[in-house]
Amino acid sequence: MKLAALGEVMVELAPQVAGQAGEQGRALLRQSYAGDTYNTAVYAARYGVSVSYVTLLGDDPYSEEVLTRLEGEGIDTSAIARLPGRCPGLYMIQNTADGERYFTYWRGEAPARELFADPVRRELLKAHLLQMACLYLSGITLAIMTASARTELLGFLREYRAAGGRVAFDSNYRPRLWRSAQEAREVVAAFMAVTDMALLTFEDEQALWGDIDVAECLQRNRGHGMAELVIKRGAEPVLLHYEGELTAVGVPPVALVVDTTGAGDSFNAGYLAARLQGTSPEASIAAGNRCAAQVIGYRGAIIPLPEFVSAAQSSAPEAC
Ligand code: ADP
Repeated sequence: MKLAALGEVMVELAPQVAGQAGEQGRALLRQSYAGDTYNTAVYAARYGVSVSYVTLLGDDPYSEEVLTRLEGEGIDTSAIARLPGRCPGLYMIQNTADGERYFTYWRGEAPARELFADPVRRELLKAHLLQMACLYLSGITLAIMTASARTELLGFLREYRAAGGRVAFDSNYRPRLWRSAQEAREVVAAFMAVTDMALLTFEDEQALWGDIDVAECLQRNRGHGMAELVIKRGAEPVLLHYEGELTAVGVPPVALVVDTTGAGDSFNAGYLAARLQGTSPEASIAAGNRCAAQVIGYRGAIIPLPEFVSAAQSSAPEAC
């Protein structure tokens, strides 16, 4: 297996029609599943990468459905632990009439918070992860873990890299998941030091570090010494720092941006899939852009598989 993505998948409740925010209690809700690393895992698998998703779930019907969906995407679920009596976290999306989206979460007791915490499960998981060519995690993965589990994971990533594995990381900063910005900065900096492929979003970096411009963001992150540094900036060109050179890769215009949920996650999937299939970093950014372009043309993070396949065939057969 090539890629393992570690993190949390949640039950998602979203209004069926945009602009229903003022009608709380009367809005029709569509139920789905999403989570940053889950989104990336799903799209990477659709681009032909052999993917394992790593999380903890409960023994409720929603956890069952997550497993069914992962398996339906051809994703390995053998490293997913099940905790009796528990159920996944939940979030709701509110769309306001002016097109903004608000997220409210119920995830404090989610089983995924116990990732890497139990010593017996941890040793089994390490053996599984050591078989992978690449591990993908995000700032959200780290934020939901306990401090001692994070320390264990950090130590393991050092071993994993020494054994030849590559670590991909997206800082995905969500302030409410952290006790303080200072805690988030310390943890993210520690994990950047064990990252080979940093797939960052400038907006999140600014929120976390207060960067005044992209030059400051580049300079700080280059200091961590990762092999590949990618900075996403919405419709602005993606920046790549690789082998001592800085390149800006243009983002093709998207005619109709319906919903940018999952843009960064799907970009990461396209990028990682291409890199793991031997494509250059620059061409992999183009693959990431193509994947994100497709996802932002749809409402929600995960495009249903049949629609994804037909859109991929009609727009960019060489995509990812
Ligand atoms: P995030 O979802 O992490 O906030 P960004 O907003 O930077 O990430 O977007 C990630 C990628 O999605 C971009 O690099 C680009 O490929 C694509 N993208 C996002 N917004 C647009 C847009 N308005 N037009 C075209 N592509 C976009």
